[in-house]
Amino acid sequence: MKIRKIMVIGAGQMGTGIAQVCAQAGYEVILYDISHANLEEGRKRIGKNLARQVSKRRMSEEEKGDILARLEDSSSLGDAAEADMVIEAVVENMNVKREIFSQLDELVQDHAILASNTSSLPITEIAAATDRPENVIGMHFMNPVPVMRLVEIVRGLATSDEVHKKVEEVARTIGKVPVEVNDFPGFVSNRILMPMINEAIYALYEGAATKEAIDDVMKLGMNHPMGPIELADFIGLDTCLSVMEILHEGFGDDKYRPCPLLRKYVKAGWVGKKAGRGFYIYE
Ligand code: NAD
Repeated sequence: MKIRKIMVIGAGQMGTGIAQVCAQAGYEVILYDISHANLEEGRKRIGKNLARQVSKRRMSEEEKGDILARLEDSSSLGDAAEADMVIEAVVENMNVKREIFSQLDELVQDHAILASNTSSLPITEIAAATDRPENVIGMHFMNPVPVMRLVEIVRGLATSDEVHKKVEEVARTIGKVPVEVNDFPGFVSNRILMPMINEAIYALYEGAATKEAIDDVMKLGMNHPMGPIELADFIGLDTCLSVMEILHEGFGDDKYRPCPLLRKYVKAGWVGKKAGRGFYIYE
């Protein structure tokens, strides 16, 4: 069965990026969010991204119109019945994701593939909320989705070879490079990245240096394009905390304990760039 229509669930930073690249590659896309305001905001962000491409002459006005015409908003999860594939990108919370997958299982067609963009949660556990674990897979995109080439493809215990192959094909069609990893906490990307970010926040917490100095050391000394504190703000401190908690619980090793300062910022609602304030302030 050829994949023609993709439903993206969650119109936040990641979901809008995923919807954009899928529509750009020619797929019909349905973008759904529980929050109408977020859906509108997401749609605007896609329009702005495409307009920037037009102004840089990377895309014509006509192509932009065609892409937007392939992108449909939805305020009903029931629209998943039309999709050949669903990519979920809601908050990093197992209960929320399991609830969505269990509902999708009732709604989607038999052949539909259910993918999660989770940064760290076990795909096998998400898949177990459905009666079709062989059709469930992890598709971990990087932020910002239109720019970053990697997609970590995470196979759950029951994921079929056929579904894996199809999802790799979709990743290539949207211009990404799929890399297969196994279902371990944090997969590979976040198992390595997040402890580095958490350590940088510890360095700040303990007064080893200012946030600007920590970021400069990693940018100028290690050639990282962004410093770890700035990157944490960019990813979202709520997401960073969730991933650290999943690593901590998943491996049962205290080396993954989240920094108390990270917890404090999340409790304050200062969750980074998307909230206008994290470790840095954004206009
Ligand atoms: P975000 O906070 O920007 O967006 C989440 C969206 O999900 C919001 O618009 C919210 O309204 C919506 N939502 C929440 N509950 C919902 C529900 N029950 N049904 C429908 N929509 C719902 O978060 P994000 O940064 O886009 O992250 C989304 C997912 O992508 C998470 O699992 C995260 O771990 C993963 N991820 C994030 C990054 C990153 O850098 N931020 C990178 C890779 C993967």
